[in-house]
Amino acid sequence: MLNYEYKCKNCGEHLTRYQNMTDEPLSICPSCGGKLVRLLSGGGGVIYKGTGFYVNDYKKKQPEKTSTKE
Ligand SMILES: [Zn+2]
Repeated sequence: MLNYEYKCKNCGEHLTRYQNMTDEPLSICPSCGGKLVRLLSGGGGVIYKGTGFYVNDYKKKQPEKTSTKE
């Protein structure tokens, strides 16, 4: 089971569903019936809640802010 995040293109509703990989992805916003897009979440146990500092740190294996211009 994985957490899938969706966002509605119409009303901006953000929702998280705990689904199996084999489950049909949601496509219809339960609030307004608009089109949902599935957001890319980290897959495994990574949960984006609030700040997400932990996730950011994890991603900084490779330095992004290289200010060197060579
Ligand atoms: Zn909606």
